[in-house]
Order: sequence, then C-alpha cells, then structure tokens
Amino acid sequence: MGKKSELASEYEHILKIDKNCFDMADKFCEGYKSFMNSSKTERECTNTIIDIVKSKGYKEFNKDIKELNAGEKYFINNRGKAVVLITIGKEPIDKGVNFVISHIDSPRLDLKPNPLYESDDISYFKTHYYGGIKKYQWPTVPLSMHGRIFKTDGSYVDINLGEKESEPKFMITDLLPHLAEEQNKRTLREGIKGEELNIVIGSMPITDEDTEIKDLVKENVLRILNKMYGIKEKDFARAEIEFVPASKAMDIGFDKSMIAAYGQDDKVCAYTSLMAEIENVNPEKTSVSVFTDKEEIGSKGNTGMDSNYVSDIIEDLADIMNVKSRNIYRNSICLSSDVNSAYDPTFADAFEKRNSSHINKGVVLTKYTGHAGKGGSNDASAETMAKIIKLMEDSNVVWQIGELGKVDIGGGGTIAKYISQKNIDTIDVGVAVLSMHAPYEITSKLDIYHTYLAYKAFLLNK
Ligand code: MN
Ligand code: MN
Repeated sequence: MGKKSELASEYEHILKIDKNCFDMADKFCEGYKSFMNSSKTERECTNTIIDIVKSKGYKEFNKDIKELNAGEKYFINNRGKAVVLITIGKEPIDKGVNFVISHIDSPRLDLKPNPLYESDDISYFKTHYYGGIKKYQWPTVPLSMHGRIFKTDGSYVDINLGEKESEPKFMITDLLPHLAEEQNKRTLREGIKGEELNIVIGSMPITDEDTEIKDLVKENVLRILNKMYGIKEKDFARAEIEFVPASKAMDIGFDKSMIAAYGQDDKVCAYTSLMAEIENVNPEKTSVSVFTDKEEIGSKGNTGMDSNYVSDIIEDLADIMNVKSRNIYRNSICLSSDVNSAYDPTFADAFEKRNSSHINKGVVLTKYTGHAGKGGSNDASAETMAKIIKLMEDSNVVWQIGELGKVDIGGGGTIAKYISQKNIDTIDVGVAVLSMHAPYEITSKLDIYHTYLAYKAFLLNK
C-alpha cells in the first residue's frame, strides 16, 4: 500500500493543483475590479453589462424577431435593473438551455421617501436598509450616493456622487466610546438601530437676511441639490436612491491574493459569468445568462427571479422557434451563480469545517442552502451534482463543496428555488466570500478565476 490513501480525499489549495495560475487570475481580476467600481448598484451594473456586451456585438432582443440562428447573441434590459443575455446554440432549443443566473443587487442603505431633515443645525437623510446587514458595521464608513430621481415634469436625473476623489462623501455617526456605557449594554443586533442609520449630509445654514425659514441647514442642502440636479424635496418620493460604501475595490494581503470590495455578493458571480457568456461562441446548447435584481430581499418584484420576466423571455424564444417552453425547461440545467460563506478561522464556531467552503480551494458547489432541516432549499439531486462535478473535473476546474454554516445556527437562500420550480435541474455554484454582506467583502483571486473557468466549461459543454 502507498503512503497516501487512494480512497480518502481532501479539498486542497488551488495552487497545489493548478500551480501556475496566479498570474492569469491576477490579470483577470484587474477587469473585475474596474467592473466593480462602475457597478455599485443594480442600475449601474445593468448599464455596465449592456455597454460591455454591445461592444461585443450583442443585439437587443425583441419578441417580434422572426428567426433566430445559431451563434447570434442578444441582450434584454429589464427596466434598467436586470439583464438577460442569450446566445443561440446549434441544437434545437427544446433539447435544453444552459442557464447561469447571478444577482446584481447587494445589501445597502436606501433613502426613505421623505428623507431630508435637520436636527440641531446638522442636516441628515433618513434611510431604510435593504437586505441583510449587520447595522453596527455601517456608521463611520464613507458612503456615496447613487440612483435615479424624477422631477415634476417627468424628466429624471441619475445620481452618482462620492465615487470620485474630488467629490464629497457622506457618513453615519457613532457614539464615542467615552460615552457608550449604555450603548455597550445593547446586544450587537441593537448596537446601532435601524432608525439610527441617519446619514450626515450638511452643516452650513443659509445666511439670508430676514428669512422665515426655520431649518436653515436643510434649506442650504435643498438649494445645493436643486442647483446640482434641479430637484425639490417632494421629488424624493419619486426616486430610488441608494447609499453604498464609497471606496474602490482593493487588493488585500502582502501577497495581493485577495480582493476587498463592496457588493461582491453577488457581482463576483455576475462578472465571472458575464466573461464566460461573452466567450461562449457558437455553442451547441443555447445559453441564457441572467443578471437579476431583488435577490437580497427575497427575489420579489418584477425585476426579481420570483417574477415571470425570465420565463416570459423563454416563452418568446419558444414562440419564435416553434417549440414548447415546457420542453425547454425540463431539459435545461441552471447554475444558480451565487456566493457561499467562506470558513472564517476567527469565527470557527459558526462553521462545520469539513463541509464549509474555504477561500482558495476553488469554485463552490453548494448542494443545498436553507434553514434548519434544509427548509426552503432547492437541494440539488445526486444526478445534477454528478453531472456538474464530472464537468469540473473534465475541464480541470478546481472545485469544492460548501454548506452555509453549522446546522441550526442560521441559514439563507439563493434564487435556486425559484429556478427549480420551473422544472429545471438547478445547483448553486459560486465564489467563497469572507465577511459576506459587510460594507467590504473579501474574496480570493484564484477562486474568482476558477469560478470563471467553471462557468465557461458549463456553457461550452455539449
Ligand atoms: Mn447572493
Ligand atoms: Mn446576499
């Protein structure tokens, strides 16, 4: 018998298996970082994706197209907040489609519809957080302002302020430790409360003589906003404004092996699948890559995966190609491209090490998510796992398995359950992330690169 077991196996660091891939990964991640910097919100990410694919020859799809031919590439913009990319395959479409679906919304602070106020000569915005955040992480982080606001005349203005060095940033305050005796008694969940997530936006009053205006600092902010964007206070009711961390994506570690950036859940899977989709030329099977919205609040709304927008597009394809959409679904496979919680040695108690994903050990295949007894989970079949693992191994993609954490310690879900309800074999495939849902999340460049290789192998698969 040999020194090593021929039967047992362990998941290993990518560099033990693919020794020379760091340079490729590092180069790949330069594109990723610039994608992240121009895609902080779902609207901006939609614009970035559409700009990229237009430059690669994708045409806008519409249901009145009479004929679809192998090799043609299309994009569909769903309300400026989600994108669908289609590459027509050589095989009849009812033999099945390769779906890759990621989400491009991330946890953040949205403005309330009547957000502007002044308190003791400081002006603030009231926020309502979006998605699962640990509220105490958001004070004293530089924030930038993004979104769209409509005016009385029906025109709108897109706002992106605080991303450039020269532009102002915004910030939520926290209480100094010297005076935090009472605050320190709060639980971590209550350390900062939802109604304390108030963003500081100004401190200078107007200096008009004889004015009857009471809130002089607020008035000054309104005048600045009016000058910059032509908006008035009521216009916040017809707006979607999001505040997100203002810093750019950055390398982490002496070895620059990792990246910290806002919103890597799930734009790390969006970027890797986008690059794979673009390079998916003349495939056998038709591919449909979706970059969806609203995952972080349960996939509801007509830009989320619990709506019919993707299945309506499949209906359109089926109509044009004169096939039945149900035959497309039952023969399709979907990679629900979402991140997994990486094992964190500092918080080892929350994880079951053997079944957690680890940074640098490759693309994560997550069989199931859910709460307690797998509640609310898709739970991919052994057949689907076998198919995807074989594909990874045949394509030299380094892969690992992952659960969300210890049983009964919490839980979560992805869009997998909304896809599989359409009778599609579905499995979660994505990148391991440290500090998920924090203002800055950490990923490994090697994992990002191998996740891109995984999506590419899947799309080019016959
Ligand atoms: Mn996610
Ligand atoms: Mn998430």
